[in-house]
Amino acid sequence: MSNQASLNHRPLKDVNKFEKLEIVGELAAGIVHEIRNPLTSISGFVQLLEQGVHNKEYFNLIYSSFNDIEEYLKALSIIASPQPNEQKLVNMKLLVEDIIEQTKEEINSNHVRFNTEFDSEFPNIQCDETQMKLVFKHLITNSIEATLNEGIVSIFVRREDPNLLIKITDTGVGMSKERLARLGEPFFNLKEKGTGIGLMVCYRIIWQYNGSIFIESEENKGTTIEVRIPYLEYM
Ligand code: ADP
Ligand code: MG
Repeated sequence: MSNQASLNHRPLKDVNKFEKLEIVGELAAGIVHEIRNPLTSISGFVQLLEQGVHNKEYFNLIYSSFNDIEEYLKALSIIASPQPNEQKLVNMKLLVEDIIEQTKEEINSNHVRFNTEFDSEFPNIQCDETQMKLVFKHLITNSIEATLNEGIVSIFVRREDPNLLIKITDTGVGMSKERLARLGEPFFNLKEKGTGIGLMVCYRIIWQYNGSIFIESEENKGTTIEVRIPYLEYM
């Protein structure tokens, strides 16, 4: 694939001071944007209610805006402090299958065909299951969202000593070299409803386990994401 580009994220500790300052600036701008939007909408509906324009639907819209803020703050708090809560041995096959079931219910992913392949034997990962689920749910959701119609999302889990490799490939819209390079920037997103915070949460959690995320993509062809988690350290 000639136009293929890839991105290997560095942990934040390898970023120099100047870069850190830049990141903080982008982070602040992103937070302002993401909190201000729902607040504006809440304030607008409250004003209408105050003026006596009563519509039950306004309450749903207000709650949904509060919910957006809440979800956003949850993601930020993971970025601030990704410490795992309760660690246990997690079987990635069960976790992936669970997520596929969930996405079918939650985000009507009928247009996507899932293809899974698991090594016949692979180690469990000692981790916080809720966090790990968050990561793969997010990556799989991104793949579904990138796949407009009749797409295939493939998920492979295989042992690649000393790591467990979880590979997610989609036949979606992909990303150009330029776009992929900007993925490292917080809050970069190309979706109308995107926040650009999801991948940051994924990196934060995976780095917590000394793992890595490698992304390869080609416009109009698709994207491959490889997550490696060293399992030996935790056995
Ligand atoms: P969000 O999903 O809220 O936009 P993310 O951090 O999850 O934020 O992703 C940032 C951006 O990266 C997305 O808006 C999208 O443009 C791009 N992206 C992520 N995953 C994929 C994928 N599998 N295929 C194509 N583009 C992707
Ligand atoms: Mg996302």
